[in-house]
Amino acid sequence: MNSTEVWISDDGTLRESAIKLVKAYSNILGPLQLEKVVFFRVVGCKQPWKGKTWRLTPPYNYVPFAASQVLADVTLPNDFEISFVIAISDSKHDLTKQSDVLYTLLHELYHIKPDMLGLKDHDIKEHYWMLKEFGLDKELANAIVDVVNGK
Ligand SMILES: [Zn+2]
Repeated sequence: MNSTEVWISDDGTLRESAIKLVKAYSNILGPLQLEKVVFFRVVGCKQPWKGKTWRLTPPYNYVPFAASQVLADVTLPNDFEISFVIAISDSKHDLTKQSDVLYTLLHELYHIKPDMLGLKDHDIKEHYWMLKEFGLDKELANAIVDVVNGK
């Protein structure tokens, strides 16, 4: 993280897209529990990554609870549990091409193991199905756009 980098909590756009992608590709992604995943957009990041997924394990899971210490009026349900964080770097995408961001989002979702207990390694073999499905040109990954736009 550096001084020009800003993290913005997803306004619901990424989550809505993720819900549709998980539904459309459930045979590959598995039954991911997206209520345990939080999404961020990163603006001004100078690092090369387009998207990143982190797994949170205790005690990091208690960070949301601790937030209620400083935001006194925020109460969180007892079963509230964040297990994963997905961040999408806006500056590494062509934001005029919806498929570019969605391709990264799908890639990151695929990093989460279906049992929600870990991450799959990042390698070309694990993600080969995406290459086969959409080809090398992410801007032509129209099938992803159709899934999210409800075609
Ligand atoms: Zn990856």
